[in-house]
Amino acid sequence: MSRDSNKNILDKNFKLMGMSAIILLVLFLYTLYKSSDHIKSGSYYFGIIFLLLLIVFAIFARFKQEKIQKFLNKEKGEGSTFSKELNRAQDNSRTNSKHEDFSSNITAVTSNITFKDVAGISQTKGELEEIVDFLNNPKKYLKHGVKLPKGVLLVGPPGVGKTLIARAVAGEADVPFFYQSGASFVQIYVGMGAKKVRELFTKAKATAPAIVFIDEIDAIGKKRGGKTNDERESTLNELLTQMDGFEGDSGVIVIAATNKIEVLDDALLRAGRFDRRVFINLPNIEDRKKILELYLTSKHYEFDLDRLALETSGFSSAALSTLINEALLNMIKREAKVIELEDIEAAKTKVEFGKKDSLVLSMEQKDILCIYQASKAFVSKSKVSLFDESTKKIDSIYPSYNELLENIKRYLAGSIGVEVIKKEKYAINSEDLNKAYTLAQKIVDDYKMAKDANVLIENISNDLRSYLSHNATDINRLKNIMLKNEVITNDDI
Ligand code: ADP
Repeated sequence: MSRDSNKNILDKNFKLMGMSAIILLVLFLYTLYKSSDHIKSGSYYFGIIFLLLLIVFAIFARFKQEKIQKFLNKEKGEGSTFSKELNRAQDNSRTNSKHEDFSSNITAVTSNITFKDVAGISQTKGELEEIVDFLNNPKKYLKHGVKLPKGVLLVGPPGVGKTLIARAVAGEADVPFFYQSGASFVQIYVGMGAKKVRELFTKAKATAPAIVFIDEIDAIGKKRGGKTNDERESTLNELLTQMDGFEGDSGVIVIAATNKIEVLDDALLRAGRFDRRVFINLPNIEDRKKILELYLTSKHYEFDLDRLALETSGFSSAALSTLINEALLNMIKREAKVIELEDIEAAKTKVEFGKKDSLVLSMEQKDILCIYQASKAFVSKSKVSLFDESTKKIDSIYPSYNELLENIKRYLAGSIGVEVIKKEKYAINSEDLNKAYTLAQKIVDDYKMAKDANVLIENISNDLRSYLSHNATDINRLKNIMLKNEVITNDDI
């Protein structure tokens, strides 16, 4: 039985109990009043006291309703380890078929996943803890008039645990979890997707507090314009309307996931919609170790875990879980009881060939990426991690000419750094380069601060070349730190 049907039954019962007690009390008092002379026994008075007690109990139960309900849920909801495992298994199979629409009638599930099941990504967990606390103690926030964001956008490559963490938020807060993939809203007939969005929000509001999770939101939330697609637009518009249509204190929190935030329509990112964004990168060495440890819990293994964590840079968390699973299969095939290095090697080949989206780096490629990121950290004087795709830039409202040039320098730092150290150009991050050229063009076209964007880029590149070659020792030092820790902190610079 679901949590909200529990609530409804409790509500109805309290009302019935209270009303019956009141009616009986009135009847008793009326009888007493009419025939007080004939009443000799004290049972009438006992009856009245009993009814009064019943009313007091009904009132008490009504006000402590939430606690009673929580108690009932606990009794029913405590999932066994088996059901957790089953959930995890279902999870894995679900990620393999994300584009499917599982059901047209939208229903919520109770999530048995908690933060304990999510290894690593401690920063992300920290950012979401506030939402869990809000769902658990809304009064604490509402009495100060604080409204929490209605929407949280999880941004990160596939398999880093976006869905898992959303489920963990629902599990921690013990609220219903509505899962929908963006693709499931994409329908043939105009208006069908919008209808589904409406249905989703109506159900979520009726069971609030609740978490609505929209996976791969880009399927409906792509920038509008260009070739029009009426169905997609009407679905997106409905989503925007629905998000505007409820207040932050309604208890419905929408969590959406995407790989690329740049493709999303600006309207989705405006205030009051997905105003909070949480970026999840591929796991770094420490995270990978924690994820491997989680999947190796209560399994026997004889290989160097630290070394495996080091050698799996580029693996997503999902790829790591597959790796351990494949290694286990290999172990079973060998009829052995302990996972050995040979099982891991066999599994690695399978995962590397089987997973096109996972970024599996050789040591040479990792070396190049480390130089790229080390140069970025050195020029921007800020923390950078190995798989950080963003570049820290100066974000002032009225940037000066020099600040704009500094930003171009930061975008170009990585590729020029690699060129200087490796004495060869490499195609690594076209996005950074595009940003540098776009900004240079803006300086010329919009701000009229320079005459030619290409000349501007050329000059900045030359300055960077000489700056980075003078500091090559530092870049190499930072590169080694990056190779070891997969992150360069401010202290390292
Ligand atoms: P995404 O939504 O980012 O594509 P998922 O949350 O669907 O990734 O992750 C797929 C699977 O990978 C999960 O079901 C889980 O088994 C595993 N996984 C992902 N991230 C983690 C993590 N941080 N800790 C433990 N397992 C993880």
